[in-house]
Amino acid sequence: MEENKVAAPEADNSEKKGLNFVEQIVWDDLKAGKNGGRLNTRFPPEPNGYLHIGHAKAICMDFGVAEKFGGTCNLRFDDTNPVKEDVEYVDAIRDDIHWLGFDWGDREYYASDYFPKLYDLAIRLIKEGKAYVDDQTSEEIAAQKGTPTTPGTESPYRNRSVEENLDLFQRMNAGEFDEGSRVLRAKLDMASDNMHFRDPIMYRIIKTPHHRTGTTWKVYPMYDFAHGQSDYFEGVTHSICTLEFVPHRPLYDRFIDEIADETYRPRQIEFNRLNLTYTVMSKRKLLALVKEGLVAGWDDPRMPTICGLRRRGYTNTAVRNFINTIGYTKYEALNSVSLLEHAVRDDLNKIATRAMAVINPVKVVITNYPEGKVETVTMDNNPEQEGAGVHEMPFSREVYIEREDFMENPPKKFFRLAPGNEVRLKGAYIVKCTDVIKDADGNITEIHCTYDPDSHSGAPGAARKVKGTLHWVSAAHAIDAEVRLYDRLFNVENPAAETERDFRDMLNPDSLKVVTGVKVEPFIAANAKTGTKFQFQRIGYFTPDYDSTPDHLVFNRTIALKDTWEKVKGK
Ligand code: ATP
Ligand code: MG
Repeated sequence: MEENKVAAPEADNSEKKGLNFVEQIVWDDLKAGKNGGRLNTRFPPEPNGYLHIGHAKAICMDFGVAEKFGGTCNLRFDDTNPVKEDVEYVDAIRDDIHWLGFDWGDREYYASDYFPKLYDLAIRLIKEGKAYVDDQTSEEIAAQKGTPTTPGTESPYRNRSVEENLDLFQRMNAGEFDEGSRVLRAKLDMASDNMHFRDPIMYRIIKTPHHRTGTTWKVYPMYDFAHGQSDYFEGVTHSICTLEFVPHRPLYDRFIDEIADETYRPRQIEFNRLNLTYTVMSKRKLLALVKEGLVAGWDDPRMPTICGLRRRGYTNTAVRNFINTIGYTKYEALNSVSLLEHAVRDDLNKIATRAMAVINPVKVVITNYPEGKVETVTMDNNPEQEGAGVHEMPFSREVYIEREDFMENPPKKFFRLAPGNEVRLKGAYIVKCTDVIKDADGNITEIHCTYDPDSHSGAPGAARKVKGTLHWVSAAHAIDAEVRLYDRLFNVENPAAETERDFRDMLNPDSLKVVTGVKVEPFIAANAKTGTKFQFQRIGYFTPDYDSTPDHLVFNRTIALKDTWEKVKGK
């Protein structure tokens, strides 16, 4: 345990100022020399689902504070309920923490590692008359709980003899009794102001095999009887969790009292959980979305899961910057998902490779450009990033532009292409629309233009300016692709607050739009590897989806260039 011994902060209090309130508590403890000057946190996911962006907030806290002061952070799987848990989740959780940029070294633990110790502790407490087996049903126990203002009723089994309790608890674990038929309870105080003290359940019978311990155990500890002790067994000094555990803290301390001495004791500190607009964060609901096929899986790019965000093209830097921005407080809040999106744009703007793609193409024929001629134009890969270099893009007589960039009868301030109008094709020439070709139904099939040979943007003296610049792709060289455009998964600002409605009814029916026949420049196709971040100029940020193959390119739109949503709302 020496490795997480931290040099006490300097006596000077000035460096404490920039710390969040949890870091300040840790700072004070270190300064006071508590726990022999050690700092050890833990991140305790239950492997019953994939991690989401809320967990990222906890991860950044647990690992972040350890990193900040030179302590250590354990990864502890809180695997006390075999009914819902699975190794699939364990593996995914590891991947996601690594992706966020944190590492737990060899400190990977499982609450199930402590089942023998916890069982021994339960036996000890029974022998000391501090725990008893209750034969009542969960309904009967609940009915006796009382209310916060009226005391509960003591169980008729509360005063069983130690011998009988020992015998029954051992037989519970031997599998002699049915699930739900008996529980082990702590004999605390049925009149306590704190409902968690009204003889909390310590153990219940579960007969489903456990993903690590198999059929060894038939009794499983409850969260309150497992978490604090697990912290203690591991040498955790600061057990940081979310605000809903505030009322559990006295019980946490109460059970720690049973095992700790004066040299070391873990303490629980709570911060506000992350809630995001237009998002649900409950694992139960996320699991339902996956199981019911309402999304394509845990890593569906519309999901708030870490693997979903990753597939969508969000970066770990963006996620961490966002969490830094919202900070940690002691008050529940609802954060705007726009803040997260802002962090994503901000990071992608710095790192994404600029390239051209046309989502809704219409063909432009440059009638005075020689047939069969091909020029190459040079495009900056990223003007925001020094040394990002350039790439070449073919230009020829026929190019695609966005259908929306042309209007036959444009309003006054339309600076894109229209009959008689001039626009620049980015990085290439100025063209002027001379003719519009339509099919029998009146749909535009081609736009005819002429180009000004002296207007190449790379040529000396090409300073002639026009108001509009369009992105384009050479028709002969364009490669077909599919793009998936995402919108918010829910169309209600705070789905969790709508307690009267089923969350499924609040799903946004337009959260996914698949567009095929998209035209991308050859450079995009050549670099369409998982993880590549593109800015399709004037459209948004895109990344190849896992479904993408060289024969069928698929891109996810990570995010549009601007926050159009806010504008629409403001209308
Ligand atoms: P449940 O307990 O309902 O299965 P959970 O979301 O609490 O779900 P855990 O695996 O227990 O899942 O969470 C692990 C850690 O992540 C806990 O310390 C928890 O407090 C923290 N955490 C979970 N959700 C959030 C959130 N939205 N914001 C911040 N921290 C969170
Ligand atoms: Mg939890």
